[in-house]
Amino acid sequence: FEPWKDPQAKPYIRIVNVTKTFGDFVAVDNISLDIYQREFFSLLGPSGCGKTTLLRMLAGFERPTSGRIELDGVDMSAVPPYERPVNMMFQSYALFPHMTVEDNIAFGLRQDGVPKAERNKRVEEMLGLVQLSKFGKRKPHQLSGGQRQRVALARSLIKKPKMLLLDEPLGALDKKLREQTQFELMNIQEQVGITFVIVTHDQEEAMTVSSRIAVMNHGRIAQVATPTELYEFPNSRYVAEFIGDVNMFEGRLTEAQPDHVLIHSAEADAYIYVDRSTSAAPGATVWVAVRPEKIDVGLTPPDDPTYNCVTGKVWDIGYLGNLTIYHVRLANGKKVTAAVANRTRLRDRPITWDDQVYFTWMPDSAVVLVS
Ligand code: ATP
Repeated sequence: FEPWKDPQAKPYIRIVNVTKTFGDFVAVDNISLDIYQREFFSLLGPSGCGKTTLLRMLAGFERPTSGRIELDGVDMSAVPPYERPVNMMFQSYALFPHMTVEDNIAFGLRQDGVPKAERNKRVEEMLGLVQLSKFGKRKPHQLSGGQRQRVALARSLIKKPKMLLLDEPLGALDKKLREQTQFELMNIQEQVGITFVIVTHDQEEAMTVSSRIAVMNHGRIAQVATPTELYEFPNSRYVAEFIGDVNMFEGRLTEAQPDHVLIHSAEADAYIYVDRSTSAAPGATVWVAVRPEKIDVGLTPPDDPTYNCVTGKVWDIGYLGNLTIYHVRLANGKKVTAAVANRTRLRDRPITWDDQVYFTWMPDSAVVLVS
């Protein structure tokens, strides 16, 4: 499922040069973005980057200051929210406290005058979809947070929108329940087969659920890509640092070949090889980004001279059960982090505080960034 790679595929949502200003503040700055049918698309970014504003423009609650939004080929500029084939689920869920679960879910259909028999049938379907068949007669206060979230989801889906917009849908849930609910949400999205666009500031959540993610920064899109691409091939320091943990080494490009580059990094006190090309010219300042889990930790230098290597003293160790995190301080003070999987029960000789260790990684395990 990769419609964005198919030049024939027609985008379901087209956001074209959309800007939104509040007074002289630019909340969304000339964004263009295509989203395809059945995508689970995430808008991800720090607080205030404009993601909710963009979502609200898709829903029709805000109008773009300039630019346009097309849905299924139709310009939405003059279409009010209630006439769009779109529904929005809010973080607060906004369930009616005095109504039963069934009545909450049926609310939209009742407003539309759908006959009772049809309504009941659809409510039952929805209760099944969100696995709450036995809970129809309860009131919201008799449900857990996760169950309330599912009622809100059922209510958002009962009118069969072509697209569901979700603003921090799991924000109110605790970590464990959040993780479980992420998978339920993916399952439900697959079953109903519609496009989900979700706003979140939680990068793990976006990575888990999304077909693609737009990482936003100050009203702009920094990068749009699949979770894997964002993590393995971030296009900038901003994205590399926003998605997961990363070691960043500033350096000077000394050699640039089509299949590899060599960087001298005073920060790493080393030459670093990377098996990739770069748009930068020799002499330019660049950054090498290495994820902690791509680094091996040893008490002796690597045998293989093609491995990149920095050396320093262990100043902190974090044992997480599945992983051990080693923080090393290089001679020049630079801190570097490695995350090593705890595959064996006991190490031959556990690395400990103040050990001199060697952090090594292969030339194809890093990326070179020019901004
Ligand atoms: P959060 O995760 O905190 O919700 P966000 O990325 O969703 O952040 P938005 O809610 O889109 O951010 O807001 C983007 C910027 O626009 C913020 O600086 C916000 O203060 C501003 N903003 C949003 N709505 C309005 C408004 N109606 N009037 C004035 N400024 C607004």
